[in-house]
Amino acid sequence: MSIILNYLKKQHNAITETLLTLTKAESPSNKKTLTDRCGEILKHEFDRLIGGSVEQIEQTEVGNQYKFTYGKGNDSDQILVIGHMDTVWDEGALPIKREGDILYGPGVFDMKGGLTVTLWAMKALKETGASLKRKITFLVTTDEEIGSEYSRDIIMREAEKSFVVFVPESSIGPDGAVKTQRKGAGSFLLKIEGISAHAGINAWEGASAIEELAWQILDLKKLANRDEGISVNVGVVKGGTRMNVIAKEAEAEIDVRITKKAQAEELTEIILNRPHFINGTKLTVTGKIERYPLERTEAVIQLYKDLQEIAASHGYELREGSSGGASDGNFTAEIGVPTIDGLGPIGDGAHSENEHVDLTNLPYRAALLAEIILKYGNK
Ligand SMILES: [Zn+2]
Repeated sequence: MSIILNYLKKQHNAITETLLTLTKAESPSNKKTLTDRCGEILKHEFDRLIGGSVEQIEQTEVGNQYKFTYGKGNDSDQILVIGHMDTVWDEGALPIKREGDILYGPGVFDMKGGLTVTLWAMKALKETGASLKRKITFLVTTDEEIGSEYSRDIIMREAEKSFVVFVPESSIGPDGAVKTQRKGAGSFLLKIEGISAHAGINAWEGASAIEELAWQILDLKKLANRDEGISVNVGVVKGGTRMNVIAKEAEAEIDVRITKKAQAEELTEIILNRPHFINGTKLTVTGKIERYPLERTEAVIQLYKDLQEIAASHGYELREGSSGGASDGNFTAEIGVPTIDGLGPIGDGAHSENEHVDLTNLPYRAALLAEIILKYGNK
């Protein structure tokens, strides 16, 4: 058995304790005071376990963010690990409970588990005396669940200085597949202005915004392509005032998901420049692709193969998967830095009442991250 895994297995209870501590420090994205307190607890854990340098990035609207650094190396080719401490849960909304080896709680899987795995991966590298040519930067943000508006630039700036990026977000399925692909996502708002008229007296003089919207919805749906990994969803519609009035206004909110960067431009062009179907109606479309996809590039495949090799040496087979959801890993992939996601613990139920982590695997997940850091830290 590798020295790192051996060390981590012996620390199993302590690792579980870290996860419990971080989960108890509830941190909804929209509650700065709570998230700030979680950040202080996280900092305390980092100081206690690893003791590298800490930079606090002050935020006014969301919780303060942290940059933890361990080891020495150039500023231009660091190993970057990114995570978020904010969760989708209001304080007290989801009870924390342990049933055998399963821990339930708010954000335990997404992604206090990933933060725990990262702290312990760094701790294991330190305790086993591993030497690395590159330094490790662990960036922890506080607004991932609400779109990363306040951390996007920080993430991009750190990614530009990085050799590789690891994202310990929740893994996939019962055997913890890593994510070698994530969809990109965009949102658009389609507003239609028609001509109102009385539905009985002068119906033919009107131009119904609702009717136009119906045509638009069906036509937008044609952009979806399952084989190409493009999905289009009109998730919200509004329109009209009364049954007997030809609608003057209608609108739709459109969610678009893509798997390749090239699809972004093409789809944006089509969606922003839509022709109308009904004479007399006018369309205004706004919006954009907000997150580019994490593509399964050659470099990503190599990362996955290296992870598989480490997993095999620990006695199990590691699989890969893709996610329709976007994460902060999409930002780092966008600027072309090899990024692999889903390195967090095994569990299930992110954003649902069933959210949980399987505690038995924590040492293995921490060892997997530690050893891939060790490999890329000396490349
Ligand atoms: Zn997450």
